[in-house]
Amino acid sequence: MRFDGKTALVTGAAGGIGKALVATLRAEGARVAVTDRDTSGIEADAHFDGDLLDKAFCDALPGQVTEALGSLDILCNNAGVITRGDITQATDADYALTMGVNVEAPFRLCRAAIPIMAHTGGAIVNTASCWGLSPGPSHPLYIMSKAAIASLTQCLARDHAPQGIRVNAVCPNEVNTPMLRTGFAIRGLDPDKAVEALNDSVPLGRIAEPEDIVDVITFLASDAARYVCGALIEVNGGKPVG
Ligand code: NAD
Repeated sequence: MRFDGKTALVTGAAGGIGKALVATLRAEGARVAVTDRDTSGIEADAHFDGDLLDKAFCDALPGQVTEALGSLDILCNNAGVITRGDITQATDADYALTMGVNVEAPFRLCRAAIPIMAHTGGAIVNTASCWGLSPGPSHPLYIMSKAAIASLTQCLARDHAPQGIRVNAVCPNEVNTPMLRTGFAIRGLDPDKAVEALNDSVPLGRIAEPEDIVDVITFLASDAARYVCGALIEVNGGKPVG
């Protein structure tokens, strides 16, 4: 079992990718602390319900997980929000929400987790996006936030490798989760039909399922990735952005 004896914290644990990630980490031996606004439906070893926009909540969380589980070996910054529309449609609230959840929360969690991990080493896996590597249309706030988390990943990897902490990011293209499907619903499209149409645009023939992303996140979190540090791994079924 890849994660025997390891402990992990997963944010966005109630979401599409988060749920699958928690289940895989636990099935492979990790004890997992979960956080989201409501984690009551998630099987885990410690539950910390809260809002990632709450600065004090984020600052305290890695310490609280360490108290609950005895250590903190793996941090998965998976939670995210997407705000749509070009810059003229973006409100101050959109800006604060997007940067708060996608950038400031991981910043705070990493800042608090790294001194804990520095004793024994650790792995941080951030969920960026292929849009954090090359921009697509009409989502400047989301894309800017994902570029920021990609950059933070590379900076932290460089600074904290000497402490035995590896920091990497997964950069998915479209994934079949509530984030994608609610976007279709908001635009008045049938999510099943829209996903079917999107499948045709991917060279491998389908958009990603959460497990396709989870397999890469868990690889990066595992010892199999012991020499991978500061990588931004695109997981796109052969479909580059553009
Ligand atoms: P999702 O919407 O299913 O899950 C996101 C989770 O984050 C939700 O459970 C939500 O409650 C949680 N969250 C959001 N704001 C929060 C807050 N303020 N406090 C606490 N929790 C909060 O989406 P997903 O597709 O599973 O997304 C996971 C990650 O993957 C995100 O970072 C997303 O940007 C990234 N991603 C997704 C896609 C895609 O097509 N679905 C593509 C590229 C990247």
